[in-house]
Parts: sequence; C-alpha cells; structure tokens
Amino acid sequence: MDHINNSLEGQVCLITGAGRGIGAAVARAAAARGARVVVNYNSSYKEAQTLIAELQQSGCIALALQGDVSSEQEVSKLFAEIRNTVGDVDLLVNNAGVTLRSLVQDTSADEWDRVMNVNLKGAFLCCKQALPYMIRKQYGRIVNIASAQGINGAAFESVYAASKGGLIAFTKSLGSEVAPSGITANAIAPGPVATDMIYSHLDEADIKTLLDEIPAGRLAEPEEIASACVFLLSRDAAYINAQVLCIDGGWIAR
Ligand code: NAP
Repeated sequence: MDHINNSLEGQVCLITGAGRGIGAAVARAAAARGARVVVNYNSSYKEAQTLIAELQQSGCIALALQGDVSSEQEVSKLFAEIRNTVGDVDLLVNNAGVTLRSLVQDTSADEWDRVMNVNLKGAFLCCKQALPYMIRKQYGRIVNIASAQGINGAAFESVYAASKGGLIAFTKSLGSEVAPSGITANAIAPGPVATDMIYSHLDEADIKTLLDEIPAGRLAEPEEIASACVFLLSRDAAYINAQVLCIDGGWIAR
C-alpha cells in the first residue's frame, strides 16, 4: 500500500435498513467519504426521503429504494434498480434487523422465521446478489451488522442472539471464501446503541440496569458504529477480513 486511502469516492454503497438508526448514520458517514449512497428502507419511507434530501443537499449522489430484505424477489429487484441507476454495488452493509424480546417457550415458529429471515437470510440474499459483480471486479467490501449478543447470547432474546450468532459464522465463512477475489467480509458486533431498537423494547428501568453493566456507563451513539463501519469499507482495511469487531464500551469483556 503506497498511501493512506480511506476515501470511498465514487463507489456505490448499499446500506440496508438505512432510513433510521445505525443504517442512517452509516449512510451519512459513507456519503461524507464520497460514496454514491443507496438507502434501502422497508417501512420508513418518510425518514428515507428526508435522509436522501439531506445527503443530496450536501452534494452526494444518493437514492432511496424500498425493499424487504427477507424476500428474494424484492432483493433481486432492489439490486436490478441499483444497477440501472447508479451502477453495481461495490460496498454492501447488511444492517437491516429486527429484534424480539420473548421467552423461548412463548416464541412462535413464525416469530423465529421472521427474525431469522430478516437478520440472517436477508444478509445472505444481499451478498448473493452483490458477489458476482464484486468477483468480476476483483474488489468489494461487505460489512454485516451483527450484535454483541451474537457472541455472548442473551436471556429473553435467544432468537435474536441466534440470528446474530449465525450472521457472525456466515461472515467468517464468507470472508475466507471471497478473500482470493479481493473482497473482504467483516462483522461489527455492537453493544447497546441509542436507537429505536433499544428505546422501543426496553423501559427506563431496563435501560438503567443495562447501563450499570456497561463499563463505559452509556449507550453507543449510532455514529460510533458508523465510523468503524466506513473504515472497514475503505481500501485501507484490505487486510482485515473475516473478523468480528465488537463495539460495546467494554460490555461483554467485563
Ligand atoms: P432500528 O432503529 O430499529 O432500525 C432497524 C432498521 O432495520 C430500520 O431501518 C428498518 O427499516 C430495518 N429493517 C427491518 N426489517 C427490514 C426488512 N425486512 N427489510 C429492510 N429493512 C428492514 O435499529 P438499529 O439499532 O438502527 O439497528 C440496526 C442494526 O444494528 C440491526 O441489525 C440491529 O440488530 C443491529 N444492532 C443494534 C443494536 C442496538 O442496541 N440498537 C445493538 C446491536 C446490533 P424500516 O424502518 O424502513 O422498516
């Protein structure tokens, strides 16, 4: 490597589930580094449009495309739309995710399927679409947003933790599979992050208990996940592959 290169200039970056939360922060960070940003959303139409307007105003080429990542048909349509508008995906961030707080014995098979289909199958479907072009180009970056709970497990969130543990194993396997083609696949495993995923599932008392467990004494901000993500998307991160980067304020190491 002859010089530092953390620019994403001109590269097409798809972030799934990016209308809000961590995905929106990654979209902003990728746009700031010059990427052409595709904001995928499922139900957050208004948030995605507002984000796109903001990114375009700052001079970025950005578009918002609807699509449910758990549907093979919709993912295929999403990639075709991207190819026909801004070009093939060079940088893929599988961020879309849903959580479920439920005891195992109270969880239905349909709930299991929904969490697995969005969190794990969704990432698989997007990688499957992105890889042929990346392999032809002999370059690509994939970052999968997993969870610290996918490493440690989590009582009351077994299905979610299982989906993220699966995503970590998928990422490690994929990274070694695609390395000869100049592609990297890494996972980020955040601890608790200040987004709707926390605020809509935990009450004040739960959050206080959680904060007592986190050595840093606070939740992560979405931007703190995004800055690591855009580094992994950069040319500088070429030799980091099949890794899991835990960003949790020291939570699971305590
Ligand atoms: P969030 O605010 O609840 O956002 C979840 C995002 O996923 C939304 O943008 C949502 O899109 C999208 N999504 C859900 N189902 C989808 C589908 N079928 N197709 C496409 N997009 C879909 O949560 P977040 O914290 O930003 O979560 C982002 C990722 O980080 C998730 O994978 C989550 O598991 C992971 N994570 C979060 C935390 C945390 O504490 N917040 C910790 C560890 C890992 P719409 O709104 O458009 O439906």
